[in-house]
Parts: sequence; C-alpha cells; structure tokens
Amino acid sequence: MKYISTRGNAPAKTFTEILLGGLAPDGGLYLPEAYPQVTRAELDAWRELSYADLAFAVLSKFATDIPAADLKAIVGKTYTAEVYSNGRPDSDFTQITPLRTLEPGVHILELSNGPTLAFKDMAMQLLGNLFEYALAKQHEELNILGATSGDTGSAAEYAMRGKRGIRVFMLSPHGKMSAFQRAQMYSLQDPNIHNIAINGMFDDAQDMVKAVSNDHAFKARHKIGTVNSINWGRVSAQIVYYFKGYFAATLSNDEQVAFSVPSGNFGNICAGHIARMMGLPIGQLILATNENDVLDEFFSTGLYRPRGTDHTYETSSPSMDISKASNFERFVFDLVGRDGAPVREFWDKVDKGGSFDIRHTPYWDALPTFHFSSGKSTHYDRLKTIRGLWEEYGVMVDTHTADGIKVGMEQRRPNLPLICLETALPAKFEETIIEALGRKPERPAALEGIEDLPQRCVVMDADVVKLKAFIAANAP
Ligand SMILES: *Cc1c(COP(=O)(O)O)cnc(C)c1O
Repeated sequence: MKYISTRGNAPAKTFTEILLGGLAPDGGLYLPEAYPQVTRAELDAWRELSYADLAFAVLSKFATDIPAADLKAIVGKTYTAEVYSNGRPDSDFTQITPLRTLEPGVHILELSNGPTLAFKDMAMQLLGNLFEYALAKQHEELNILGATSGDTGSAAEYAMRGKRGIRVFMLSPHGKMSAFQRAQMYSLQDPNIHNIAINGMFDDAQDMVKAVSNDHAFKARHKIGTVNSINWGRVSAQIVYYFKGYFAATLSNDEQVAFSVPSGNFGNICAGHIARMMGLPIGQLILATNENDVLDEFFSTGLYRPRGTDHTYETSSPSMDISKASNFERFVFDLVGRDGAPVREFWDKVDKGGSFDIRHTPYWDALPTFHFSSGKSTHYDRLKTIRGLWEEYGVMVDTHTADGIKVGMEQRRPNLPLICLETALPAKFEETIIEALGRKPERPAALEGIEDLPQRCVVMDADVVKLKAFIAANAP
C-alpha cells in the first residue's frame, strides 16, 4: 500500500515513511492510493474480534510495510483495558470502546475512557507506540513540538511519556487553561516531557511553533516533528472504532447504521468516511458543529468559507472551535474523483484566505453519494441536551458529545440505528456541566485530587529565540 498526496504532485510513500512526517512536499495530505476493501467474509469474522485484534485486522490493510508480528504486538500493548478504564464505573472496559444504549436504536459509543478522558487518546496512544517502534528501527530520535489549548497537548504527552527516542515540547497559554487541564499536563514528571507556559494567548504559542517549523535548518538539526490532526497514523487508528461500534450496535452485517460525530478538524469523521469507503455498511454520517459552523455550511450549501481566527467564536465546546478544518481536504479529494488539480485550485483560494463553492459543479451532484448530513448546535442546545439526557437516562455527557447527540437526533433517518460518538468525558468541562445541571460531574478515581500534585513547567515570553535556545539545550 502506497500513499499519495491530495494535491497530486508528490512521490508516493509507504505507511512508515509518512508516519513521522506532516504535510506532503506539495502541501497536500497523504491518503492511500486506493482504499482497501473489506469483504463480507471478513466482516463476518471481524464481528467476533476483541478491540486489539480488530485494530490489527483493520490496520494491517494500511500499515503494509510493518511486519505482521510487530504490528500485532504494537496494537496489543496499546488497546488494553488498563489504559482505557477511566470512564463510568459501570462501563465494560474490556470492550475498550463500550456501547451504551440510551433506548432501542440510540447509542453512545464511549471513546473517552483513555488517560486524558477524550477520544484523542484512542489514536494518540497508538501513535506513541508506533513512533517508538519506527524510531528504534531507524536508530533515530524525534522532538515533538506543539501548541495546545488543552486536549491535544495532554493526549500527546500521555502517549509519549517515557517513550525512548522521543521528547515533547508542548507550548500552552500561561494561565488560560482550566485548573484541571493544567494539572493534567504539568503534573507529568517524565524527563522527556517539557511543558512551556507562554505569556500570551494560544495563537501566540501557535505562531512560535510555526516560526520554528519554518526554520528548516533548525528543524532538521533538532529533528523536530509534530503530532497534529492531519497525521495519517491518527486518522487510520480512528477507523477501527467505527467497525467496533457497528458490530456492537447491530446483529448482522446486513444492517446499516448512522454515526453522529462532533466535528472540528474533520479528523474523526474523516475516519468514518474511510470506513464507509472500505465497505462498512454506514448509511449516514452526521456531522455536528458548534457555533463555528464552517463545515455545516459546506454540507448544506456547497460553500466552504473558513472564517479566520479573528472570526472564530470561543464556545463551551472549545475543541470544535476551529477556523479551518485541516483534514477536510482529504474528503474533498475523494469528492472530486481523486484528482489533485481541483484540490490545488480550491486550496489556492483557501490558503489566501478565500473560499470555494461547489454548488454549480458536478461535485455538488456527487455529494449525496457520500451519505453525509450535517447540523449545528449552540450553547443553548448544548445545555438543553445535557439536561435532557441527565433527566431521561441518568447519563451525563460532555459539551462536545451533546452537540453530536443534538444534531444526530435531528438529522437521523428513521429506522437507522444511531451511534453517537462520545468525544470527551464531562469531567473535562466542569463549568458548563454545573451551568446545565447545577452539579459537578463525577471524576474518574485516578484523577481525583490531581490539582494538588506537584507541577513542573517552564514559563516563557512569546519569544522564538528563547524557545529555540530551550529546545537546543534540552534536545542536544
Ligand atoms: C478534537 C475534538 C473534537 C473534534 O474532532 P476532529 O477530529 O478535530 O473533528 C471533538 N470533541 C473533542 C472533545 C475533541 O477533543
């Protein structure tokens, strides 16, 4: 299996070759040259598999340059009940992603039982083990540099802590994260994890990361890499739980289901799209946005109009507050018939701050064949959904999952079982839960009192020279 760029002008590469890189040299994103297909016989056999065995079966089709025994060992140590046991006490953690049924035909797929209580752990934990494996084989080292406003940074740190050959330099806005988020990241004492609190906003931290990444000589000398949401390893790991959720919600492979996905950078739902392209019987992919509704606008009107960071709202589902959906280009490549030329033309406009419109093109007519629906959810909807679920089912959901459930219930086709993806636990977003329910969310026992642990972080001005000096001193 080789990987090609969505912009059509980069050499084809293998899974391991793109694992540690970011964008393709032509500015595009890598995708398999053709999606591997799943036969009916495979689906029948996979229905009975454990999560780790299913992950091996699915990922074998993508990571064809990793020897089977090695891949099996990597997924085997990634998807264990010990790692994914932070959710509700009545969950069946042996399932890794247990399915919670609210009423016949309406389910929540629990994806947030990992160490940082968000679905990003599902992919990031695998990435940590894949990176360690690939680096050891190449006798290489990697210094991961990133900026975070909370979720991604902590998921990356918990995945990379203690890994040989890997160091993490994670920038966060000083004093801008919740006490819980701060404690999650800064309480890590592993010597390979460096938390850098920047005197500034998230955008300042992000600009510093970009500045370092654009210094190609520095980047090469210090082996700087990233783990952002366009990483193909992350997308491929997320394909697995669509299969797992499908098997858990159905009795036979003749049935179709709908998935509802709280979306920001389009990484999660992109994995669902690929699962469907592989042959998983998904009848409907429901994309939910918050007030930042760039993607809902595209799927309902054909206009893709990123708003820019100045026009992105800060909402109570902050992990979906995006201005540009970085993985969306992967879907558009499929929509235009896997041709790099129109993708280049569209992103030429987007990269200059513009928009594109597919309404009066054949692509608009092709869109329904991809089975997407979309909708948006506001702060008011979020509170109402959180209250409704608590009162009706005694189930507490976080703000992002609430957006997905609201839009899912609205958009679902009758007779199609609905699987709502849970993207975080309510404990991560205490403030809004208190606003909705007048009570604090429960916290997994392992995280009780985390705010009282000793913290370790370096405070730094938003100064690229200082950042480079810090990296050079700590990553010789
Ligand atoms: C990252 C994140 C999302 C958005 O996922 P994408 O893959 O970026 O679409 C939704 N909810 C939570 C809690 C997240 O952390």
